[in-house]
Amino acid sequence: MSLLRAKIQDVFNEPACEKNRGKDAKARKEGCSKPLTPGAAAGGCAFDGAKIVLQPITDVAHLVHGPLACEGNSWDNRGAASSGPTLWRTSFTTDLTELDVVMGRGERKLFKAIREIKEAYGPPAIFVYPTCVTALIGDDIEAVCKRAAEKYGLPVVPVNAPGFLGSKNLGNKLAGEALLEHVIGTVEPDDAGPYDINILGEFNLSGEFWLVKPLLDRLGIRVRACIPGDARYFDIACAHRARAALIVCSTALINLARKMEQRWDIPFFEGSFYGITDTSEALRQISQLLVKKGADPEILGRTEVLIAEEEAIAWKKLAAYRPRLEGKRVLLNTGGVKSWSVVHALMEIGIEIVGTSVKKSTVEDKERIKQILKDDNHMFEQMAARELYAMLSEHKADIMLSGGRTQFIALKAKTPWLDINQERQHPYAGYHGMVELVRQIDLAIHNPIWRQVREPAPWDCQPAVRQELPRTKSETATLHVVQEFAGTTAGNFGEC
Ligand code: SF4
Repeated sequence: MSLLRAKIQDVFNEPACEKNRGKDAKARKEGCSKPLTPGAAAGGCAFDGAKIVLQPITDVAHLVHGPLACEGNSWDNRGAASSGPTLWRTSFTTDLTELDVVMGRGERKLFKAIREIKEAYGPPAIFVYPTCVTALIGDDIEAVCKRAAEKYGLPVVPVNAPGFLGSKNLGNKLAGEALLEHVIGTVEPDDAGPYDINILGEFNLSGEFWLVKPLLDRLGIRVRACIPGDARYFDIACAHRARAALIVCSTALINLARKMEQRWDIPFFEGSFYGITDTSEALRQISQLLVKKGADPEILGRTEVLIAEEEAIAWKKLAAYRPRLEGKRVLLNTGGVKSWSVVHALMEIGIEIVGTSVKKSTVEDKERIKQILKDDNHMFEQMAARELYAMLSEHKADIMLSGGRTQFIALKAKTPWLDINQERQHPYAGYHGMVELVRQIDLAIHNPIWRQVREPAPWDCQPAVRQELPRTKSETATLHVVQEFAGTTAGNFGEC
């Protein structure tokens, strides 16, 4: 446990994080987790955070050592996609019961589970996640994993991030530490080249990385490892031979990027594939870093040609939406990298940003928003559900973009809403992704349902008021059904 404590202190003491650099030594030790407000939901635990980062490694078996519910809570709660293996979506748990805890059978059960997985599935590796219960009863996961790895001849990786250690974000970082300690650098590739890069913090939600990869392919840039989206164990084990890295979601894996730079001299930068300008900028910076690391400078020219071509196609497609969306007001209730990259993307087509949440944003994220919006009046740390509802029902925004948790606030306020967080159904990365995002915003805002739900209920209206509103045939038919059902006639409706 003292080793784990030292690791947590190390993760909290992240020199690449500007917020952390601004703290004194004592505050740094306490980390960034804030105490919960009474009554607020806790959000994910450290175990959940580690699972989020590692589960998209698709050919690995992810074994949760603990009671069944921990695995149930964290299983596949994001829309990451795989282009091949499906093993990552199979749920493995030791399903510890009270009796196992009392009888001290945890470690034995874990060893047996590893053997069963090896025999039934033969994966390239097994990742083992302790949870609160197995950490508290003192199961020595590291020792079991080491012994099992020796006996069965495959990597068995302990991901030491039981839930009680802290927040989801801490779990993200501990997952990065597990990769550094046990996976990256364990295999030497025989095909390393000057155009190899790593992408860190890209989760391939709804398969959106597949909209970006063809651009890199056209430039002859190989993604040595995308961590974790659609990743394979072998690729991550060889990731130390990449020449440069792009980090997409800095709060999740910044420690991994920095330590890979220290250990293997892989320079990194923070970028985003959301929005046309940001996608172009990311491609440019990747090429520049590769040239600095010895690639042929001719790639810079090819990158500019590709950017010009792709931007022209995307702008042409977006032009059709500009007249329909220009001046529309968007409230963005997300955070992190999306708080600025999506802002930038939407402003590119004339959409107005009435507010953006910076709850989970880093100091760098906030600085970027200030630069893009030209002031910080539109940034809000956290808006209570009541305030969000008031803002939307007073029609201060035409649409809210957020995660699933706040969708019902928008729907109750009869305001269009679009999911842009991890459960989203559509890919929004790269040039094509930007067109898709705008298409979805257009569909949501102009959906005819809003006209209908915003009308007063039939039983609240006088006939005169009802007749002022032109109706389609189907609306009239629906009204008749409602009237018949309510046993009333148009003349019986009250005042609006
Ligand atoms: S807090 Fe502990 S018990 Fe709860 S889900 Fe996380 S690991 Fe499991």
